[in-house]
Amino acid sequence: MKFIDTHCHVTLENFDEDREDLLKIMEEELEFFIEVAIDMKSSEYLYQYSKNFKNGFITVGVHPTETENFNYDSIEQLKLFLPCEKVIAIGEIGLDFHWDTDRNKQYKALEMQLELAKNYDIPVIFHVRDAYKEMYDFLNKSKFSDLKGVVHCFSGNYEIAKKFLNLGYYLGFDGPITYPKNEELRETIKNIPIDRILFETDSPFLPPKPFRGKRNDPLKVSYVYEKAADVLNINIEELKSIVFQNAKKLFDI
Ligand SMILES: [Zn+2]
Repeated sequence: MKFIDTHCHVTLENFDEDREDLLKIMEEELEFFIEVAIDMKSSEYLYQYSKNFKNGFITVGVHPTETENFNYDSIEQLKLFLPCEKVIAIGEIGLDFHWDTDRNKQYKALEMQLELAKNYDIPVIFHVRDAYKEMYDFLNKSKFSDLKGVVHCFSGNYEIAKKFLNLGYYLGFDGPITYPKNEELRETIKNIPIDRILFETDSPFLPPKPFRGKRNDPLKVSYVYEKAADVLNINIEELKSIVFQNAKKLFDI
């Protein structure tokens, strides 16, 4: 079995020079990948472009730091993309308090997009940065707690992980699990149920350790798998198969 990358951005300009070649290799080397939208423009673009993906799926949705102009028209437009068979989730949506953008707008856009996901019974991909507590509190007391989804690029400790697991969510892990300083994150992986783990690259961001400072790409998800297999003391082939099943189940692929 091949690897999967459940979160990448290969349509960003970082890949303009070699995207077609890379997609060809990704067809060979990956079981499948999920290209994630970050705003209205990329949602529309992915909707059009996804026909070029032989083994790729897409999401549509607006990232928390891109919610400045999010409104009901945005929801109406996102609705138009959902019948496309390549669209397998709403994302990436969530809360990001790292950057100084309007928090009320972030909450509003999050709520509206969760409502959309609920109405269409489609899973969500969460981006949460410097806001785990707020995100958990919001999900825990909201009417959306039965939604399926993944907290992408999880970087919290086991206590935080448990909270999201208890709400039924999956956790996605990326290149940072290979960074020497992230011992706590590796401890988290060791302690959570293996049937709730996904692996991703967030390419072109977050390259695994040997490539720090360079562009990341979906093929490098193998380094995330290798590190996790090591931490979990499990055969990598077995891990591939488990994570493949996890992703298939969550995204109904
Ligand atoms: Zn992302």
